[in-house]
Amino acid sequence: MKIHNFSAGPSILAPEVFQEAAQAVVNFQDTGLSLLEMSHRSKEFDAVLNEAISLVNELLELPDGFKAIFVSGGASTQFALAPMNLLPQNGKAAYINTGTWADKAIKEAKAFGNIDVVASSKEDNYTHIPKNYSVPSDAAFFHITSNNTVFGTQFRNMPETSVPLVVDMSSDIFSYKVDMEKIGLIYAGAQKNMGPAGTTLIVVREDLLGKVDRHIPSMFDYRIHIKKNSAYNTPPVFPIYVSMLNLRWVKKNGGIKAMEARSIARSEMIYSEVDRNPLFRGTTAVEDRSRMNATFVLNEKYQSLENDFLEVCKNAGISGIKGHRSVGGFRASMYNAMELDSVQVLVDVMKDFEERKG
Ligand SMILES: *Cc1c(COP(=O)(O)O)cnc(C)c1O
Repeated sequence: MKIHNFSAGPSILAPEVFQEAAQAVVNFQDTGLSLLEMSHRSKEFDAVLNEAISLVNELLELPDGFKAIFVSGGASTQFALAPMNLLPQNGKAAYINTGTWADKAIKEAKAFGNIDVVASSKEDNYTHIPKNYSVPSDAAFFHITSNNTVFGTQFRNMPETSVPLVVDMSSDIFSYKVDMEKIGLIYAGAQKNMGPAGTTLIVVREDLLGKVDRHIPSMFDYRIHIKKNSAYNTPPVFPIYVSMLNLRWVKKNGGIKAMEARSIARSEMIYSEVDRNPLFRGTTAVEDRSRMNATFVLNEKYQSLENDFLEVCKNAGISGIKGHRSVGGFRASMYNAMELDSVQVLVDVMKDFEERKG
């Protein structure tokens, strides 16, 4: 039976990416060596790194002045490293608290300067993205989490501000075109939309670096990773390779435009069923609904059926649909590689459940 993996992360990748990745572990490009035993300074791996970086440049249409690097440590490390690299000691940075990950980013940033939380939806359990707030013009940057993986909300557009945006795009990178004019820094853990766990993509406007006086340890210093083309030390070779394969797949399948169209089609399909089906309801403000993570619950009257629904999902090959403990109910995570057919399977199960239980 085909398994439809709606897990929030690590997430699905295209079957051909898994195949090629498996082949590279056994015998990389007919070298007789596994990629796992190969020098990270070999010409073969150097080509992988260069292709990965050039695909990032091409797919995101990075203007001059932006640099892309692959580092390790996950997006959570960047909660600290972004302000460490960008926020002067007595400087100020603006943050918006739209979910668990944003909250963590704020906590980490406080060690590096004055953090102005311009708005928060925490008191509403993050069911919406705050709209009316102003960002101080003397802030070094404005940090946002573009897609709130846990709660299922997403910024429909990057906010307009007079200061550069620092964006945690871990769960929606490569799923729509970003206006790079607004961006100072993007970071994204690979394991949702880009590849397997183990590497994090950073895209940074280089002229924003070097403005802080604090000592930055080499491994935490973006400038060093840029200068060393992501190979200052041994980089996460395999996660970078698989990310590169996936970026090739994105390109081959029409690039960001096509990924966006796919995400619109998937999310419209699931949300229209959530809205139509009397057993279910969405958990977030309609205008802020995420195209990547659809959160929904059973209506009051049917709440005792939660385990039944999880069971029928399981029997239909639907995996990873249980909601995060802080929201409850269900979460359908639909990252770039997910086919519309898988969403159709979930919708059919919801319809069938209504017929039998409604
Ligand atoms: C998953 C996630 C993170 C954490 O990523 P790690 O790589 O596990 O540190 C951060 N931000 C967002 C938006 C996420 O979805």
